Amino acid sequence: MILKQNGSRGFRAYTSKHLDELLQRAGLDDEERLRIRAVATVLPFRTNAYVVDELIDWSDIPDDPIYRLVFPQADMLPEADVTRIAGLLRDEAAKSEITAVAHDVRMKLNPHPAGQLQLNVPRVGQEPIQGLQHKYPETVLFFPKQGQTCHAYCTYCFRWAQFVGDPDLKMASDDVERLVEYVHAHPEVTSILLTGGDPMIMGEPVLRRYIEPLLQIEQLESIRIGTKSLGYWPQRYITDPDADDTLRLFSRVVESGKNLAFMAHFSHPREIEPQAVQEAVRRINDTGAVIRTQAPLIRSINDDPAIWTHMWRRHLTMGMVPYYMFVERDTGPQDYFAVPLARAYEIFRDAYAGVSGLCRTVRGPSMSATPGKVCVDGVTEIAGQKVFVLHLIQARDPELVGRPFFARYDPQATWLTDLTPAFADRFPYEPAPLGAARLSA
Ligand SMILES: *Cc1c(COP(=O)(O)O)cnc(C)c1O
Repeated sequence: MILKQNGSRGFRAYTSKHLDELLQRAGLDDEERLRIRAVATVLPFRTNAYVVDELIDWSDIPDDPIYRLVFPQADMLPEADVTRIAGLLRDEAAKSEITAVAHDVRMKLNPHPAGQLQLNVPRVGQEPIQGLQHKYPETVLFFPKQGQTCHAYCTYCFRWAQFVGDPDLKMASDDVERLVEYVHAHPEVTSILLTGGDPMIMGEPVLRRYIEPLLQIEQLESIRIGTKSLGYWPQRYITDPDADDTLRLFSRVVESGKNLAFMAHFSHPREIEPQAVQEAVRRINDTGAVIRTQAPLIRSINDDPAIWTHMWRRHLTMGMVPYYMFVERDTGPQDYFAVPLARAYEIFRDAYAGVSGLCRTVRGPSMSATPGKVCVDGVTEIAGQKVFVLHLIQARDPELVGRPFFARYDPQATWLTDLTPAFADRFPYEPAPLGAARLSA
């Protein structure tokens, strides 16, 4: 039984200010700590006392998966960059100089993968709408302004660029009226996905201001919330002062006749072990919301089929629906975390083989790339050629969904852009070369 803490929230965040102290706890020497602090000038660092005290096994540093999930590692960035910044820190260089160098390093890390800032900027009339992405016909993503942080940051986060304070790397909006207006103008939109950051960082009164207006939109079938809060701060649903109000808000979504899809990000089975998580899941399920689970496949954190089998089976018994296994995106310290597509497919297949049909709602390994979500279905040999078999789970162009296509087998490929087509001169989502239409006409 978890006691309510008399209205006090008890949430304690740690940021780069606390990094050195925390690393001392890990028993790292001066030079190691300095290099990690250098990485943390480029990539965002944030965690909290729950993660540090309840989830990390400090006797197993640096191998502990949760430690690796939230703490930067010295070798996440190119050695020369880390050495340069570590030198500046050691010499106590001016903050502005360190910031400038860190910014340059960031710019080499593909901060906005899949054309996040440029592609399909939605408009009402002539004006672009900040904080809104309309990537698939039926689905609109919305980035609430107050939801642009998390209870802790994952080291592999593909949205890392939003957390580092470079204004040109941010996108968010507090204009829910524009969102409503946009959805009314686009009757094909049936699903709104609130994302971030983590929308569940917002207190209930703020969250309600975003969600309430959506309940009036008749065409909407679902409201999704992408969140890591169950893993990083389950107290959000149990003992936080607004926990009960939050659950009532979820109930109201369900009562309005819409699906509240709670998209829970779980990277490792350790995150679902605490009793508090089980209690939080039970309380969310009681509202009629449906919890679906997803995570990327990350080298050194969860690149083992046994981890996924265990996770999906536990999710099922806890009352959650396995949804996606993602491929780590081509951004940030991708080289550090990437699992080759060939290996990702084997891990998915072996994990999938170890679960009952009730867990086989999960799909993957899936790359959320510019043309859509590309799933690696397998590796096979066709007419003497070894190939990847792929299909689009989601696409900007719905015509392309669910049609198999092929790429040449490449054991090193880690992302869609590493692949070349097999049995065709282009991938189905690539435009026909100029003149081809005329020739076939
Ligand atoms: C996965 C994803 C969605 C949602 O797609 P579903 O297949 O409906 O879950 C929306 N936008 C982006 C950018 C995504 O990666």
